[in-house]
Amino acid sequence: MYAPPRSSLLETLVDRLAGLPSIGRKSAQRLAYHILAAPLEEVEALSDSLLNARRSVRPCALCGNHAEEERCALCRNPRRDAAQVCVVERPSDVAAFERLGTYRGLYHVLGGTLSPLDGVGPAELNLASLFTREGVEEIILALGTHAEGEATSTYIVHRLQGRPLRITRLARGLPAGSDLEFVDELTMKRALDGRVDLGTK
Ligand SMILES: [Zn+2]
Repeated sequence: MYAPPRSSLLETLVDRLAGLPSIGRKSAQRLAYHILAAPLEEVEALSDSLLNARRSVRPCALCGNHAEEERCALCRNPRRDAAQVCVVERPSDVAAFERLGTYRGLYHVLGGTLSPLDGVGPAELNLASLFTREGVEEIILALGTHAEGEATSTYIVHRLQGRPLRITRLARGLPAGSDLEFVDELTMKRALDGRVDLGTK
């Protein structure tokens, strides 16, 4: 049977692209053909931006969100309310809250949720620094509604017991078992506005 000659460089490119989340084999091929047909300067700019972002973006020293300096742009913004801290799993959750445009507090990005079966304990998450954050008056738990998210919220509430803090969680109404990044804005806004107290000072 006749097989068309294949470029191994093209195959490698398709493999790399297909390794990215949400990119299936077909999309990877389409992207690869697009890249090969694009002006060289455009591809160089894309490649530079990949490398620059990967090399220079690091976790914020205060909240764990993506930062280009020691602290992220949100933590450095004096107009944000440092007394209110919304605890999320990933930087993409921060972006989801910021798209709502109504939340004025800061964040704490855990980097995941507790998952003992996968070897993720408290030490593997950005948790210790949450318990030592100063000037916090309210902790808003905004973790996914999946079992690991619930377990992580329970752990945090337990660890913060006795602290002079208001602890709240997003209102029920988020689809069970869901990740925040897949929840629509209206549902998220309602969940934030209707958040429930878990314990008050
Ligand atoms: Zn930060």
